[in-house]
Amino acid sequence: MLLFFSEVCAGCESPIADRFLLRVNELSWHETCVKCAVCRSALSGTCYCRDRLCLCYTRYVYLLL
Ligand SMILES: [Zn+2]
Ligand SMILES: [Zn+2]
Repeated sequence: MLLFFSEVCAGCESPIADRFLLRVNELSWHETCVKCAVCRSALSGTCYCRDRLCLCYTRYVYLLL
């Protein structure tokens, strides 16, 4: 039996069946799964993407230096 999910979370790889779907970096995420790839802090509202990684502002600026 094949199951088709329209969206799978890029963070926890579970299907996203609720309305808290975020499109970040051409990937779909649960709202609660968008975390900084470096420091793992939750990225609520503001998210910076680089090389398919989601980063908080602090780490994003750090990578630019
Ligand atoms: Zn998730
Ligand atoms: Zn961070």
